[in-house]
Amino acid sequence: MTSPCLTLDLSKIAANWAALDALTACETAAVVKADAYGGGASAVARHLQGIGVTRFFVALATEGVALRQALGEGAEINILSGHMAGDASCLASARLTPVLNSLDQVLRHLEALPTAPFALQLDTGMNRLGLEPSDWAGLRQIKMGSPTFVMSHLACADDPSHAMNAKQLNTFKEMTDGLGLTRSLAATGGILLGPEYHFDFTRPGIGLYGCAPFSAGQVVHHLTLPIIQTRDVAVGETVGYSNTWTAERPSRIATVAAGYADGLHRAMGAKTQLWANEIPCPIVGRISMDLIGVDVTDLADVPDSLEILNQHQTADVLAANAGTIGYEILTSLGARYTRVYEGNT
Ligand SMILES: *Cc1c(COP(=O)(O)O)cnc(C)c1O
Repeated sequence: MTSPCLTLDLSKIAANWAALDALTACETAAVVKADAYGGGASAVARHLQGIGVTRFFVALATEGVALRQALGEGAEINILSGHMAGDASCLASARLTPVLNSLDQVLRHLEALPTAPFALQLDTGMNRLGLEPSDWAGLRQIKMGSPTFVMSHLACADDPSHAMNAKQLNTFKEMTDGLGLTRSLAATGGILLGPEYHFDFTRPGIGLYGCAPFSAGQVVHHLTLPIIQTRDVAVGETVGYSNTWTAERPSRIATVAAGYADGLHRAMGAKTQLWANEIPCPIVGRISMDLIGVDVTDLADVPDSLEILNQHQTADVLAANAGTIGYEILTSLGARYTRVYEGNT
């Protein structure tokens, strides 16, 4: 059976985690939400657990339930969306730690699971999730246990020169200094901002997968697309929907088995190539839902498959070609790919 194949090198993910960990003097957690940014959360998180990671983050309680099954009892699994209505039984049965984001969530949690662990998110200016300073002051009136940790999230950490970083850092310090709580502020971008952003542990996600803003990261993903059919086209013939490409020389066109339904966004087509080992071959015509045409005229031998993600053309490059960010390319990688793991020693 031939299908498009997404290969992740787990040893590279481990190396990226270790490199991010080495940039700080504190603990380093791992963010594996959205199925480890499209790579497969069970395999990625198990590998990270094997090199000593004990604290994990996902977005939803349902993701946490699956992660608990993969990791067993030892790991701390934190739920960034907190405790939403209907989450209590999932949180309790899988022993998940919700990161509570509002007074409503705090009250819901204390009522449903009064003895279960929780963490707290504080809003320091992003206005996405978290308790506002006034809520935070109000919380002191509520009789509750101690949070496992308190955290906040930076809105502009991918831009080290942005004034928002220092502003949020100051707000976070004002809200938490002197309380003796375990604290976390930095994701990948925050780690790179320097030690005052590190606190007790960091929460990298994208850097583990080798993408910007962690420019020193190693490439993790290879995506190989099988060629279904090859044809010769004459000068003046066109390829694909809307006739956007016309042969200017006698050409050999390979049609590969993936398309925008697999996360290879239509917008990346014009600038993107597929690779036969070291040789780039341009995409021709529109990317379709399940198919892409590639000009393989210059190859001496047409292989069985071509690569669209590799060390030459990373997720960040595809992102630039499509006018988006590496995060969106990775998390769009489709369910139809067979995921294969290397470096799992
Ligand atoms: C996604 C996320 C992270 C990880 O961010 P990266 O930029 O991928 O490192 C950390 N903390 C929170 C709150 C997040 O939502």
